[in-house]
Amino acid sequence: MNILVINAGSSSLKYQLLNPETGDLLAKGLCERIGIDGKFTYKPQVAGKETLDAIDVAMPTHSEAIQAVLDALVDAKNGVVGSMKEIDAVGHRVVHGGEKFAKSVLITDEVMAAIEECNPLAPLHNPANIIGIKACQALMPGTPMVAVFDTAFHQTMPPKAFMYALPYAYYENDKVRRYGFHGTSHKYVSGRAAAMLGKKPEELKLISCHLGNGSSIAAVDGGKSVDTSMGFTPLAGLPMGTRSGDLDAGILQYLMNKYGMNIDEMLNVLNKKSGVEGLSCVSSDFRDLESAAANGDEKAALAQEKFAYEVKKYVGAYAAAMGGVDAIIFTAGVGENDKAIRSMVCQGLEYMGVKLDETANNTRGKETVISAADSKVKVLLIPTNEELMIAQDTASIVKG
Ligand code: ADP
Repeated sequence: MNILVINAGSSSLKYQLLNPETGDLLAKGLCERIGIDGKFTYKPQVAGKETLDAIDVAMPTHSEAIQAVLDALVDAKNGVVGSMKEIDAVGHRVVHGGEKFAKSVLITDEVMAAIEECNPLAPLHNPANIIGIKACQALMPGTPMVAVFDTAFHQTMPPKAFMYALPYAYYENDKVRRYGFHGTSHKYVSGRAAAMLGKKPEELKLISCHLGNGSSIAAVDGGKSVDTSMGFTPLAGLPMGTRSGDLDAGILQYLMNKYGMNIDEMLNVLNKKSGVEGLSCVSSDFRDLESAAANGDEKAALAQEKFAYEVKKYVGAYAAAMGGVDAIIFTAGVGENDKAIRSMVCQGLEYMGVKLDETANNTRGKETVISAADSKVKVLLIPTNEELMIAQDTASIVKG
């Protein structure tokens, strides 16, 4: 079985063709500058097939972009499947499923209408996801399509975790609550953690740290998300590459009044000019922070320290929320690659049974137990694979 996974943005579209049973990746790539000048990248993972690297392809709309993907996949010379018949289904990443979607779902007209109803909750993302689905439906009639939501995994949170202490009417009338994001990643690494530990997900209390350019942490009790650090939007929780994470809302009023900023300008600062980049005045990339800190840059060192400190506070909070923790998972760009951050997070957690093995921690990007043999709480490095999770969900829904 082959599943095409599509992640459509407003002017870009990422894709992978993979086998959900074996996990084999057949091809992946990217359409960029859709609606502008169209750049197409195709990376077949089969020996002897040629890569296309950001070549010019006219893509006035997402429709031409998806047509370029399909043409490349079935191309007689460099394609990876013989015909469109070998693409069994399409899994679409959809950012926001609101409270309507607690799991992945086969796309029907009713489902499309329900996804559109979630647009106000993710105005930058959901409309682009919908455009991608519609373009695929038009080009691949009869091929089943499945929607996989970033928010779905967190729909198991109890009200005490997802409610804000605001007037209740804002929840009832306006859907203001914590939704959480990165759900596909948290679900995937939680499943892998159970497999690595030889346990059933129901037997485990896990803290999943997805630390990338955007970062979030989830408390996963018995296979279910019970709390997470992102909120109504992905701006909440940890400081990130350029996002502030949580802050005192009073700061907004103070700065907006002082500098005559409107709310859009203020949010632009919080989303694009804050986080470790804003704090360090160096970069949003943790590799740059590491080398600047090694050269004595104090602000870069502070940004690393602040980030690790906030991660550690969530670990403590979620262990308290779940009444214990069996394993802490590190995943995504920073979590998979940055041993210094992992080490800083785990330092001082010995009292709760966390003991990192610094030699094992000197690893990048492969599934590894990085805690010491006698560590009560296991620490796991698990590369995330959201596309494989989307393909697996899609396959299981299509097979019924
Ligand atoms: P996104 O949230 O965009 O999916 P990723 O999960 O790909 O982000 O993470 C990207 C980030 O991972 C980079 O901005 C960088 O900070 C970090 N990163 C990648 N490689 C390394 C590395 N070798 N060491 C430290 N940090 C890294």
